[in-house]
Amino acid sequence: MSLVQSLVSFLKKNDSPKDGEAPDGLCPNCWGRQDYGGKFYDTVKLNNLDVNSPDAELGWINDYANKHLAGIAIKEQDGELSCVACKVAYKSE
Ligand SMILES: [Zn+2]
Repeated sequence: MSLVQSLVSFLKKNDSPKDGEAPDGLCPNCWGRQDYGGKFYDTVKLNNLDVNSPDAELGWINDYANKHLAGIAIKEQDGELSCVACKVAYKSE
């Protein structure tokens, strides 16, 4: 799943930020603590995004994700999933 798809399906599930939950592929630790999630939701509101609309304009999410969220993506390193930003390791599911 791409980051954009993961963000969109997260938005469909949660219409406001929720503690302890982050979109697939992003570090829940950073998403909550650094307020990445809050800023993302603000931006979604600003752009009037209707995630349930089939022709929702998603290009900006891609740009936003690359600019602001790529740094907290969980990546595999030495057979372990971990966040590049905070170094927390996650078990692969
Ligand atoms: Zn992190």
